[in-house]
Amino acid sequence: MAYTCSVCNQVVDGDLVAFQDHTEDHIIDVIKSKNPDWVESDGVCQKCVEYFRKQIKGEG
Ligand SMILES: [Zn+2]
Repeated sequence: MAYTCSVCNQVVDGDLVAFQDHTEDHIIDVIKSKNPDWVESDGVCQKCVEYFRKQIKGEG
């Protein structure tokens, strides 16, 4: 089943990434700061999760 990621607007095969633990809360904050219209229930693709995880780790 395909869906469109609300963050990167790509059509992705697979399931939405569910946010459950505390680390994911921080990801949500970062996504919202960059995409004010995004809400958690829109979901996000795995690629975006990994991208935002790197942002949180403060690389650079
Ligand atoms: Zn995405």
